[in-house]
Amino acid sequence: MTDDDPNHSDATRAVSAGRDPARQDGAVNPPVMRASTILAPTFDALKAQRRVVSGENYSYGRHGVRGTFALEEAIQALEGGGRTRLAPSGVAAISAALISVLGAGEHLLMTDGCYGPTRATCDGLLKRMGVETTYFDPLIGPEISGLFRPNTKALFLESPTSWTFEISDIRALAAAARAHGAVSLIDATWASPLRLKPLALGVDISIHSVTKYVAGHSDVMMGAVTAREEVYPRLRTGWRQLGLAVGPDDAALALRGLRSLAVRQDRQAQTALILADWLAARPEVAEVLHPARPADPGHALFKRDFLGSSGLFGFLLPPERASDAHLSAFLDELSLFGMGASWGGFESLLIPNEPPLTRAASPWPRPGRPAGQLMRVSCGLEEPCDLIRDLEAAFARLAAA
Ligand SMILES: *Cc1c(COP(=O)(O)O)cnc(C)c1O
Repeated sequence: MTDDDPNHSDATRAVSAGRDPARQDGAVNPPVMRASTILAPTFDALKAQRRVVSGENYSYGRHGVRGTFALEEAIQALEGGGRTRLAPSGVAAISAALISVLGAGEHLLMTDGCYGPTRATCDGLLKRMGVETTYFDPLIGPEISGLFRPNTKALFLESPTSWTFEISDIRALAAAARAHGAVSLIDATWASPLRLKPLALGVDISIHSVTKYVAGHSDVMMGAVTAREEVYPRLRTGWRQLGLAVGPDDAALALRGLRSLAVRQDRQAQTALILADWLAARPEVAEVLHPARPADPGHALFKRDFLGSSGLFGFLLPPERASDAHLSAFLDELSLFGMGASWGGFESLLIPNEPPLTRAASPWPRPGRPAGQLMRVSCGLEEPCDLIRDLEAAFARLAAA
């Protein structure tokens, strides 16, 4: 069951896509198949198995089993087309996608607002492979054309940007990449496959850290890459040669998370707006970074391209309240917010970023905008009023520090 009914909303599709009870004795969910070896009953069947490169006929554990195919199908349905492959983490998905479309002597255009480990891949693995990276200002517009070279083969976006929540003009950048014969890729983890449809905006490859919203329960590492049909063969080859596979138990957890993604994300997005508005009204907060707020500089582009929001946003504490002693006072006794990497789970997190932010092509803070200590909030499923009480106490401790 692929759920390609165009009348279905995404919330419905998240529930129905990738399900086929008739093939599993009526069970609602696919069985967890712990399988490396898949036996062929006859020589003819073996030959048929070998011809299948991916899809729902399986031949060997590394190429997928029932549950991983179901998860790929479901994500593919939410991405609105293309073909999806899974990776053992979001970073694996990003690096493998880049390796699949780039080679020695080629050039990559990378957003300056990318996730830290993505930058490390460009400056490390890709550089050693002979791929040169130029970082571009995430707020760049048509001037991006001037950065393309004859050997530019890929352009990579992330919007909103990690930590700084800046919104890029996805359509313009994807169109420029296409005009210059380069593959466009986007890390769309913030929006989840529900709230941004990169392929429909002209992007070739959409990437998610499934670890975050899709799995949603802070207990799985996984990534997903969805490519337009024309680009997919390169991805499939890359996946085969890198030997990427995910475990059937992790796939079952991620699929279970996906089934409730729409209600979780709606609630988390709502809570984030409540908290962001509350923080914006606090005298101790220099600025709130959240593109779904009308006051945000990226709001117009956000409204044009995104179908909704999510539960992750930032705020700045002014420099005079951001010493280590201030931060300890603010953070150490939070009762609901945890302090840790990752986000998108059912539980709220609050974490400062270690300054200085690494930027190569664009200033931070932006000229004319406040400076300060970046804090990132991941809203969970708690009652917003309880979260606000936790923050109120933190601000009281900050004032006393
Ligand atoms: C966490 C994250 C990743 C990496 O995902 P992992 O599953 O942790 O490897 C990639 N991109 C963004 C924007 C992230 O926040």
